Amino acid sequence: MKSQITALSRLAPTKGLRLTALLQEKDGILLISMKLHEYQSRALLASYSVPVPKGEVTSDPEEAFRIAEAFGGKVVVKAQVLMGGRGKAGGIGLFEDARKASEFTAGLIGKRLVSPQNPIGMIVEKVLISEKVEIAEEYYIALLLDRTEQKDVLVLSARGGMDIEDIAVKEPEAIMKVPIDPKWGLWNYEIRHALKKAGINIKAHSQLVSLAENIYKMYREKDCTLIEINPCALTQDGKVVAVDAKVTIDDSALFRHPEFSRSEESAEDPIEAEAVRRGIAYVKLDGEIGVIGNGAGLVMLTLDEIAKTGKKAANFLDVGGGAQAERVRDCVELVLMDKGVKVLLINIFGGITRGDEVAKGVVQAIKELGVEIPIVARIEGTNAEEARAILSGAKITPARSVREAAEYAAKLVEAR
Ligand code: GDP
Ligand code: MN
Repeated sequence: MKSQITALSRLAPTKGLRLTALLQEKDGILLISMKLHEYQSRALLASYSVPVPKGEVTSDPEEAFRIAEAFGGKVVVKAQVLMGGRGKAGGIGLFEDARKASEFTAGLIGKRLVSPQNPIGMIVEKVLISEKVEIAEEYYIALLLDRTEQKDVLVLSARGGMDIEDIAVKEPEAIMKVPIDPKWGLWNYEIRHALKKAGINIKAHSQLVSLAENIYKMYREKDCTLIEINPCALTQDGKVVAVDAKVTIDDSALFRHPEFSRSEESAEDPIEAEAVRRGIAYVKLDGEIGVIGNGAGLVMLTLDEIAKTGKKAANFLDVGGGAQAERVRDCVELVLMDKGVKVLLINIFGGITRGDEVAKGVVQAIKELGVEIPIVARIEGTNAEEARAILSGAKITPARSVREAAEYAAKLVEAR
């Protein structure tokens, strides 16, 4: 499928408070990435020699029982949802008994988990049944792009676990950052120095140095935008293990990693999953202005202009080149599946895409879907005159520029 959801956009930080979000979205810029599920992240880390607990994925409570039994009943059941704060949302259970683990699985499948990081929440479809690690200490270790430093950074803390977000805000000095010079990479002594400054147990240092080197290799080779291991555990018998892992891959690099292609499973939202089925480049955001445009750059520009009005876009959607009326109709339908959309903004600069085809699609959508919300359209380029003629019959506010379109849309949101 087409993956033109390209690099950078000036979006207001939308996904709540996370340590990585604090670093990555400081200046309001969000990098569009594909999130991997924990079990996928673990497999990838293991292929880079990072120690991870053994485990298996299932959505069947009986199978969960069998997997748990094979681990002697001492397991952790973990909801596989693409959101932070699962522990606090009730998505993690520790057990000594396979039957209890199976019952917990049965209760979790189909349930919606809601956390401070994700107030809308996500439905659990799969769980990871993982051997329970006897944790002595919990560290935080991550690699990500820090926009303030304009570099990739290694982030370390001796205070890993579920409260790292609070610590990042209240005691930022407990978190060590090592900016990485792309010319030289990550030096062994830099890692050791940071481990020491972070106050991490000396017993774990050598293992953590190897781990940091391994994940940096993975970060570069797999075009990751984030590798976050929290907690990175020191076990009671002195071993370092990646107990939880979050990995995201740069969307713009997906073309060279067929192993990570976007799928329904990678979708963070039901509408995104539907977009994957329809082959539409769509990313859900949480504003009230629905956006349809052609070309990733033009859509990004539209999001910028909306942000300047103080309102927020509800989504990113690129109809792609040469869209026919039928596809435009499908796109309108998709955007309106989001009940938060109060106004629709259509921004087309016709090259290969013909303005009149887009206009026909919009009119078709209004008729067939009974669209009632206001629509603002800015259509320029190929067959723009014809497009305007088609749209003038429908109740659509025409705009001459992207800025004007954004301003009209913002006013219409206020009027509702
Ligand atoms: P998150 O809430 O989505 O970050 O999920 P985690 O996988 O990080 O689990 C949350 C917390 O559960 C961790 O910080 C640990 O304290 C605990 N936990 C998870 N797995 C294990 C395990 O194997 N053994 C023990 N003892 N605790 C675990
Ligand atoms: Mn975690």
